[in-house]
Amino acid sequence: MANSHTPRIGILGGGQLGKMLCQAGADWHLPIHILEENHSFPAANYATVFHRGNFRSKADVLEFGRKMDIVTIEIEHIDTAALHQLVAEGVKVYPQPEIIDLIKDKGLQKQFYADEGIATSDFSRFANAAEVRDAHAAGTLSLPFVQKARTGGYDGQGVAVIREAAELTDKLLDCPCVVEDLVDIAKELAVIVTRTPSGNISVFPTVEMEFHPTANLVEFLICPAAIGSDTDVRAARLAMEVAEKMGIVGLLAVELFLTPTGEILVNEVAPRPHNSGHHTIEACMTSQYEQHLRAIMDLPLGPTDLVRPGAMINLLGAEGHNGPAVYAGWANLLAIPEVYPHLYGKAETRPFRKMGHVTALGDTIAMARERATRAKEAVQIITR
Ligand code: ADP
Repeated sequence: MANSHTPRIGILGGGQLGKMLCQAGADWHLPIHILEENHSFPAANYATVFHRGNFRSKADVLEFGRKMDIVTIEIEHIDTAALHQLVAEGVKVYPQPEIIDLIKDKGLQKQFYADEGIATSDFSRFANAAEVRDAHAAGTLSLPFVQKARTGGYDGQGVAVIREAAELTDKLLDCPCVVEDLVDIAKELAVIVTRTPSGNISVFPTVEMEFHPTANLVEFLICPAAIGSDTDVRAARLAMEVAEKMGIVGLLAVELFLTPTGEILVNEVAPRPHNSGHHTIEACMTSQYEQHLRAIMDLPLGPTDLVRPGAMINLLGAEGHNGPAVYAGWANLLAIPEVYPHLYGKAETRPFRKMGHVTALGDTIAMARERATRAKEAVQIITR
């Protein structure tokens, strides 16, 4: 579709999510531009044009965005002052900068849910650790609770679960924070919603995060989630309600908690492609990446139906290995049927660094999960 009317699409950030957006864009020969610090990032070699710069710098974002018709993001930790200015200058920025501002700050995000009557855990906001301790001493804050840094958190960093008084001295984060009730979680779910500028909306099938029985780590993402159809419908409705109330254009990944009594609470959202949507590349009729591009160009959204049950695992750097990455056992992994690996091309591995992912499909979730497990055991990301 690349011709003189094809919009120039600029993506802020060149990580694996940016790479997979480039891959989806390549099917339609879309010109995709990436702004990132250097060529070692996953998306650098897959962009139509790579622009060297820093998405945290106002000057760099402005210079990059002025050359684009549509600007989007693959990470929310960016300079939004520049994005507001680009909108004023007539560039389309999706997700909209005010939504990025809202989501970047967990304090503002929780307040939005409270103001809009969206179900979420009860919370208070504090300026630092001393204020949290004072509230506990005064009896206005009771244990246990979950403390989250208002800004800058990622993949569980910036989250402290405080169960005992002793942890108030050695575990509290000393920064502006949100303190939430500790939710009794039966399952963690995620629903990815997509919305176009004209207000068309689509929703991907609900995903369930399965935790490792002993280590407190997400082991698999599975789709469809093992929940009743009533819960499924409520999860999808709640996620769509959040997207509509925000008025977002593009993808919105909505992370949810299901409680033992069947209540569904919004944990947090991400305004971009998400880890919980990787499987859509092979398991759904349209991938989250293509759907995002359709949305920001105001094109018809694709069908999101599940083609086959899927299980997704992240490929993490092996413990004790720091340095240039080597993928041992690659041929063994490829011998497993219906296993689709994606490597992000990060030059250096570190223990538990996300180096890639594998989606496994099967006739049933059990079959997909078994294949994903074999894939994970087959490959080791190490250094020589
Ligand atoms: P991040 O943005 O770093 O991913 P999250 O807000 O998703 O942080 O929290 C990380 C994990 O901590 C969640 O997946 C969940 O397991 C746990 N968690 C977060 N908030 C709560 C809560 N209020 N009650 C219980 N567990 C929580």
